[in-house]
Amino acid sequence: MASSSELRSRSNGKPHVLCFNQDLTPLRTVKVQSPTSGKHFYGCSHWLNSCGFFKWADVEERVQELQFLLFERDTRIAELEILIEELKNEFKNLNSATVDKKLYNLLVASWVPFAIVLLLLGRGG
Ligand SMILES: [Zn+2]
Repeated sequence: MASSSELRSRSNGKPHVLCFNQDLTPLRTVKVQSPTSGKHFYGCSHWLNSCGFFKWADVEERVQELQFLLFERDTRIAELEILIEELKNEFKNLNSATVDKKLYNLLVASWVPFAIVLLLLGRGG
């Protein structure tokens, strides 16, 4: 019934529902005291006159909102995974640089006394 005239787009994650006249239908809330009060619906501005477009919004709106949140979360996860990879590489480089320096210091520290001993022996002999 309504489905052929509905179009939705994904700008800023909110569903856009068009009525039978291709007008953007605003999201409204049932304000009268009834079992449906507080529920959301899409109703055309001219719905009492010519158009008559009406559609409950709750379920579909929430599904789209959740899908958008899910998409945002997945994107965030992907970004964080890249960041983790970068930090791992940085840490690895930092670690190997530190180890190299330590090894270098250790070599120098072990060769310097040996060289001094050689010098002293050379003088003495
Ligand atoms: Zn309309």
